[in-house]
Parts: sequence; C-alpha cells; structure tokens
Amino acid sequence: MDAISPSQLWKKRLGDWVVNPYIGCEHGCLHCYCPAMPGVKFHNDGRSQAEWGSYLLPKDGIVEALRRQLRKFTPDKAKRTDWGDGWVLMSFLTDCYTPAEAELKLTRQCLELLLDAGHKVRVQTRSALVERDFDLLAAHKDRVRLGTSLPYLDDVLARILEPRATGPTRRQKMLEKAAALGIPVYVAIAPVMPWTQADELRGIAAWAGELGATEVFCEVLNPKEDNLTGMERVLRAAGRNDLADQIRSHDKEAWAHATLARLRRLAGSRAFVPWPDTGRGWAKHLPVEDADWLRQFLPASSMGGVSPSTFTLGQAERRRSIATKTAIASHTTSDPTNPVVTAKNGVLAPPTAASPIAISAGVTPADSHTARRAAHARSRQPGLSRPV
Ligand code: SF4
Repeated sequence: MDAISPSQLWKKRLGDWVVNPYIGCEHGCLHCYCPAMPGVKFHNDGRSQAEWGSYLLPKDGIVEALRRQLRKFTPDKAKRTDWGDGWVLMSFLTDCYTPAEAELKLTRQCLELLLDAGHKVRVQTRSALVERDFDLLAAHKDRVRLGTSLPYLDDVLARILEPRATGPTRRQKMLEKAAALGIPVYVAIAPVMPWTQADELRGIAAWAGELGATEVFCEVLNPKEDNLTGMERVLRAAGRNDLADQIRSHDKEAWAHATLARLRRLAGSRAFVPWPDTGRGWAKHLPVEDADWLRQFLPASSMGGVSPSTFTLGQAERRRSIATKTAIASHTTSDPTNPVVTAKNGVLAPPTAASPIAISAGVTPADSHTARRAAHARSRQPGLSRPV
C-alpha cells in the first residue's frame, strides 16, 4: 500500500495529496467530523464516534512505505493533478502531532523524507508539538506552510471542546514563533461556532494579518452523525447551557444561509479562499443560484475557468501585506450569529464543510513493531496522554 494518497482536498486548496501517519486522534475534539468519515470508519476496527479521542492507531510501516513510494513519486509527478500544484498535506482525518508523536516520531520521519525529496508540504495541527520540527520547516521555508485552527481564543472553552489539543492562545504563540523563523503560516477559523461573534473573528483575522499569514480560512460547523450531540453533552456537563442550547437548535439550512452571507461579504478580498464543498456539503441546503455562485470559486479544472492563483496571495503581495499591516474591515449583518470579516490589504477567508479521502498504510518491519505496540497500549488507556 501507498503512504501518500490522492486527496480531494485540492478543492479546498489544502493539498493534492495527503499523508496520515495515524488513524484516530488523541485530541478528541467534540466538533470533529473525522470519525464519521470512511477513511476512519473503515479502518478503526469498528470503534464508534463516541470513542473518538480514546484511541490512536499508528500506521504500521508508514515510514518505510513512504521511503519506497518516494523513489517514484517525484515532485513533478505530484503536480499532475486536477489542480496541479502538488502540495502534500499532513494530515487530514487525524492530527499528526498528537502527544504520542513525541515518542513515536512517525510524523517527523515522514516530513523529513517528503522535504528531502523536494515536495511541498502543508502541515496543519492543533498542537504546539510541531515546534519540535521547526528545524525542518525552517530549512525548507520556500515550500512549506504551517497552519492551525483557531475557532476561538477562549482556552477554558477549548479545554471542554478540544480536550487534549494545545490551547488556542498557546497555538497562537506557536504560529508567532514559526513566523519569526520565516516559516509561512496560515490560519483556519474552524469551525465557526453558532455563538461566534464579529469581534472575535475580527480579532483573530487582525492578528493573522499582522503575522503575515498567507491565508485565513473559515469553515462551518459540520454536523456528522452524533458530533453535535457530543458537543451538547460536554457543554452541559461543564455548565455552559447557553452554548449547549445553541448547538441543540443547530439548523442546517439556517447555518448554510448564514455561511453564504459571510462568503458574499468576503468575496471582495484578494485572498478570498473559500472551501465551498458545493458537491455534497452544506451548499445543498441553498437555492441553486446561490450554490452556482459558490461554484465560481472552485479551482479551474472542477468548473472550468477560474485559476486558483486568482485567490491566493503571491509573495510580493504577502510582503506588502506584512509591511502595511492588514487593515480589517468588518460588517455585521442583522443576524448576531453571522459576523463577517474582510481584509483590506491581504489576508482573509471563509467557511466550508468536509470531504473524504482514503487512508492507506504500508507495512514493513522497520517501524511496525513499535507502532503496533503503541497502538495496542494506547487503545487500552481511557485517558491517553495530556495535551502539550
Ligand atoms: S485535532 Fe483535528 S482531527 Fe483531531 S480531533 Fe481535533 S479536529 Fe479532529
């Protein structure tokens, strides 16, 4: 089996390919839709969505499989995709820097191999453990991106909804350190919660702009199976009935319309990077003409005509953006749960949903023993490790 899999995430401009060293995620975020995706469901030995966060299955032999695959999978071949930009994402359907990675180092080994082979790698994580690998990222800053999700900056709320991930204010510091080293960074405001207010979005976007972020995405809350039920449960247990009530009354159509309003406001930004997922996501709850409007932002090969480069910042623009500081203008609609943010001179972006990919794992003796042992040990531990 291959370690690098083709990914539909090019539609969101995240990557044409993905490497997932693990199945499962120790962070156990309650909003997470990954446990409902085929790439997890069919590879986790029948574990339920309720068990998400309680298991981590390192992929046996992933490092050796990647080494083998890279003999033929050159950066030139990586570009031969619908979008053709060749970015490899680490990771999707898992976080490649959960606490176990500190010991197992599967992500570091994979990252090293990919970068040594000349590939472009986008790393996305909710963990400050990635700082351990800043040496690799800084040494290849011309072809890496490092991003984190910042749906809010409330560390107390994050401990409820993202129990084992690094807290959001610490994740901000992590990106600041990366930017200081010259590592290109981006921010995903993901997921935007029903209670998110304009000021909070504006604050995150302003901070990202000053950091010189290459992109800022927004992603809608994506209901899959019983993730909303789980959110409501932990919020009530923590005494946050105000937020739990909003989750209970979550309405897909209302949320799709609220999202669309954000996208329309953001469309004027040069760095507008929507994740429209018009094929089967929340856009199906919209009128046809609104879904068609969203389709214009899909990469060229999926709808014929619009180049992805139209919507991303070039290096010159980025430098200008840093120099002038991003001016953030905000617009608030009559819906208080529908704050809108635009960036005048650079960074910004909007909502989305999810898309599935297949996980594949290679198995060779090199790292299989350690990984299998760790998988068994960790799947027996109810509490797993503490967050970084
Ligand atoms: S870190 Fe990402 S993959 Fe892991 S549980 Fe949270 S949202 Fe899901």
